[in-house]
Amino acid sequence: MSVEELLEAVAAEIMVCPRCRLSATRKKAVPGEGSAQSRVMFVGEGPGRNEDLVGRPFVGQAGKFLDTLLTESGLIRNEVFVCNVARCRPPENRGPLPDEIEACTPYLNRQIALIKPKLIVSLGKHSTAYVLSKAKLPFDSITKTRGKLYETKLWGMQITIFPTLHPAAALYNGKYKDQLVEDFRLLGKNLGR
Ligand code: URA
Repeated sequence: MSVEELLEAVAAEIMVCPRCRLSATRKKAVPGEGSAQSRVMFVGEGPGRNEDLVGRPFVGQAGKFLDTLLTESGLIRNEVFVCNVARCRPPENRGPLPDEIEACTPYLNRQIALIKPKLIVSLGKHSTAYVLSKAKLPFDSITKTRGKLYETKLWGMQITIFPTLHPAAALYNGKYKDQLVEDFRLLGKNLGR
């Protein structure tokens, strides 16, 4: 099977996943999307209301801002892979709970192993804490880790982790918006864009 077909198989499992309580309240699971050849993977938190309705990641307000940030970095949405640590919507816009992240992240691990990205951009504290923990790197806070490049080995692959703030943070705080733009410009520079 091709990488595309294997990614499709992971997505099909996610669509009917019963592994945690979020499956009971979701409308649609959100497996993630993008190119199987992506050199860069973006990992968010979990689907919001809009994503839950359509089954696609980052399609609401935070997603529109993510598209703006991608432009800042010289990337376009369909050359990267975008997903979340939780694939079903947590109720009332809360963050995913530790047991929900634990139940769901085997899907993320499989997608990483198939895509073999050179760079993982973790958006916000939940995904940063998870990805850094997988690399056995300490995580203190998103404000301390954002905008730094962590060269590491994940599942035997040389991968750079680049934590930044969650794009939704910019929607209520102008300071975070500036920091996100700064981080995405640095990301673009690092990718030679
Ligand atoms: N916020 C996230 O973390 N992920 C999405 O897909 C949408 C909003």
